[in-house]
Amino acid sequence: MLEISVELTKSPKQKPSESEPLGFGKYYTDHMFIMNYDEGEGWHNPRIVPYQNIALDPAAMCFHYAQEVFEGLKAYRTKSGEIQLFRPEKNMARLNLSNDRLCIPRIDEEFAVETIKKLVSVDKDWVPHGEGTSLYIRPFIFAVDPYVGVHPARHLLFVIILSPVGSYYPQGLNPVKIYVEDEYVRAVKGGMGYVKAGGNYAASLKSQAKAEELGYTQVLWLDGVERKYVEEVGTMNVFFVIDGEVVTPKLTGSVLGGITRLSCIELLREHGYKVTERCISIQEIYDAYESGKLNEAFGSGTAAVISPIGEFRWGDKVIKLTESEIGPVSQFLYDTLTGIQWGKIEDTRGWTQKI
Ligand SMILES: *Cc1c(COP(=O)(O)O)cnc(C)c1O
Repeated sequence: MLEISVELTKSPKQKPSESEPLGFGKYYTDHMFIMNYDEGEGWHNPRIVPYQNIALDPAAMCFHYAQEVFEGLKAYRTKSGEIQLFRPEKNMARLNLSNDRLCIPRIDEEFAVETIKKLVSVDKDWVPHGEGTSLYIRPFIFAVDPYVGVHPARHLLFVIILSPVGSYYPQGLNPVKIYVEDEYVRAVKGGMGYVKAGGNYAASLKSQAKAEELGYTQVLWLDGVERKYVEEVGTMNVFFVIDGEVVTPKLTGSVLGGITRLSCIELLREHGYKVTERCISIQEIYDAYESGKLNEAFGSGTAAVISPIGEFRWGDKVIKLTESEIGPVSQFLYDTLTGIQWGKIEDTRGWTQKI
């Protein structure tokens, strides 16, 4: 394995006070990781350095053609003060899936997990202590060749930054209101919806802004061909409980395979729930609601873990599920996942890795 050099900062930053809400992505730690890729040399010169600006040529390809991929995971502080990661090997495997789709050279997954551990341990005092808080880890890779022709990059950077983040639910689990987007789409089969690329997010901003203007928190994405099948909710995967059965859209190429989604499916099956991955139309959801069989709906993702859905707006139709009450499936998943992540529940599945 490559040796990672470490240059410690001479001017540590003031850490945010833990009595103030940390928010999401407002603060960054003292150090970052950076590694170069150059054609002929491969990935090389991995280093942990003080958090700093990156100087790039204005012709750097990432600015023009969005050859960029990223990941998002968290480090959690347990009650006994240890720090742990949740299934980081899955994130690094997914980073390579994204790399393959965007013609970015693969990284060594095991090395990348070790790198994350090393970086977090350098900045371990930045892992917050408060209930529900964590250290968000953002690995990303982007093309830097100064070349405005369209071409896969020959020179890239792999960077990891860290951000202490607050509890997603300072007031406890809170159902969100969702706008069903039937105009714009996030992704289509054959595109890059199944990978974590910044470009997917650029495509989603317009609908997100529209939903917020209309008083909704997030959008429910429908398929790009017929605007008929449910895909994801905002930046989360989506689940429905219909007549006691848990259903979630299957991964058909335009849906991102979330690690929280996978963990939910595994936990539910272990606990005897019937879970089905299949195509689900928005009409089917509406019909289930009308006949009183739509028990619950929720999103899943690293940031919020589980996000119960209180209401959907689909054209002139409204699906009203709950204003404040949390369904039993949502609550079970939230409690179990956060329990494992923060070390309150014993990890019997090998999902956590200590730093
Ligand atoms: C990251 C992401 C998710 C959730 O993935 P997790 O691994 O559970 O955090 C879902 N949908 C999209 C579009 C995403 O980018």
